Amino acid sequence: MKTSNFRIVALSTEVAQAARRAAANGAPDHAIIVADSRDGFPCRHCLRFAQSGERVILFPYKAIPDGHPYSESGPIFVHAEPCERYGETRKFPTDFRRGRVLRAYNSNYDMIDAEVVNGNEPEAVIEKFLQKPETAFVDARSVTRGCYTFRIQPYENA
Ligand SMILES: [Zn+2]
Repeated sequence: MKTSNFRIVALSTEVAQAARRAAANGAPDHAIIVADSRDGFPCRHCLRFAQSGERVILFPYKAIPDGHPYSESGPIFVHAEPCERYGETRKFPTDFRRGRVLRAYNSNYDMIDAEVVNGNEPEAVIEKFLQKPETAFVDARSVTRGCYTFRIQPYENA
């Protein structure tokens, strides 16, 4: 029996730390950038926008793994300095109530639905998607640039 509950899944600390190590080692696909706006540099680990002047790492991340029609790798940011992984997993992160699109996928990583969230209720969209029995997870992405932001899973699969 499905419930309407969901769990917010931020980027793992292991992936964030690996990105910091790669950037420190000068990996060419890991760029260190200084944030210069308040809403352009979302950290996928703490799920907050980096503040102007904070350093972030820009690197490619495979949100949808290889071997599927919707396989996708794309650029994401994490804070260059260690930050705390987003922990309020039952609460949609405040910084991303605007400017996101929600995409629902099935267990084969096929996209089965998508809807723009624009300041209204992302929880209502998530619950609608999760009520479909085929929905395995929902991804939040930037509505303008398309970049992966975080994953939402049904709570019982947590
Ligand atoms: Zn962060």
